Amino acid sequence: MKKKLGFIGLGNMGLPMAINLLRADYQVYGFDTNAEAMEQFAAAGGFGLETAMDIAKQCDVIMTSLPTPQVVELVYRSEQGILQHAKKGCLLIDFSTVNPELNDTLHTEAIALGLRYLGAPVSGGVIGAINATLTIMVGGGTDDYISASEIFRIVGKNIYHLGTSSSIGTRIKLLNNLMIGFYTEAVAETIVLGEKMGIQADTLYEVLNNSYGQSRIYERNYLEYMKNDNYEPGFSTNLLLKDLKLAKEMADEAGVSLRIGEKLVDLYSKIAQQGYGEKDMSAAYLSLKEKCKLEQF
Ligand code: NAD
Repeated sequence: MKKKLGFIGLGNMGLPMAINLLRADYQVYGFDTNAEAMEQFAAAGGFGLETAMDIAKQCDVIMTSLPTPQVVELVYRSEQGILQHAKKGCLLIDFSTVNPELNDTLHTEAIALGLRYLGAPVSGGVIGAINATLTIMVGGGTDDYISASEIFRIVGKNIYHLGTSSSIGTRIKLLNNLMIGFYTEAVAETIVLGEKMGIQADTLYEVLNNSYGQSRIYERNYLEYMKNDNYEPGFSTNLLLKDLKLAKEMADEAGVSLRIGEKLVDLYSKIAQQGYGEKDMSAAYLSLKEKCKLEQF
């Protein structure tokens, strides 16, 4: 009989991941504090439960895809949380992007309670979650990784077991998002400057996409968001800002001064304050345009 799966956090990433597990004929129990997310999950054939504790009591594997380390901490460590209520031997897989120390703490506490834990942040965006093409950066015990590998193959494509430390995947994920922070602003600055000089954004994209200025983020931000004038996230500015703060903390701890990386925290804080926090990160372009008083292209 197939294992009972639990999925907590049915947002932009979690919902399509849970739907892919349902399509693979798993029984998936879900919980989200947002009623609309619960409705969408039920419409896709999922079994909604009322609390994270209910998920913990029922399931053999529990996955989480939650917005911030604070929420992850609450869902795992509170009295009503999954650590206290999961069945012995249950495998916990956290797909959220958190701080590395939190992965390590949760791993240690899980083991002490007879549970298993993997830190498994993902990359590839909502489209990757829908198409099951995510990159998954896994840290944790080899046996646990092997028992989760079928699930990983259903929700992702490029799956890396990076070591037995549960935070190693998170460290690499935060390095990835540091680069996303650079690229997103680079795309915004390049297009705004081009437009100011009368260069069409489409022409610029076509040429730079065949030049060293090309990047996956240019492709994503321009084609999926800016060109359609649609900034519904995707990956919100607030989530990028959270990850840049975590990357900065990681650099501080390693004693590395990030010459530009440090400035990105200030920059995206300002963009969020301008009202773009809940918009897709590609709205960095709108924020700069507003500053330069440029018309829509
Ligand atoms: P999201 O905000 O769309 O989804 C988070 C979900 O968690 C929401 O539906 C919210 O209602 C729910 N939630 C909040 N508090 C809860 C609680 N206490 N109990 C249960 N559910 C709760 O965020 P997302 O974009 O899906 O991102 C999820 C995680 O994945 C984040 O850590 C993010 O950094 C990471 N991530 C996101 C992307 C992306 O492109 N969106 C890509 C890679 C990684």
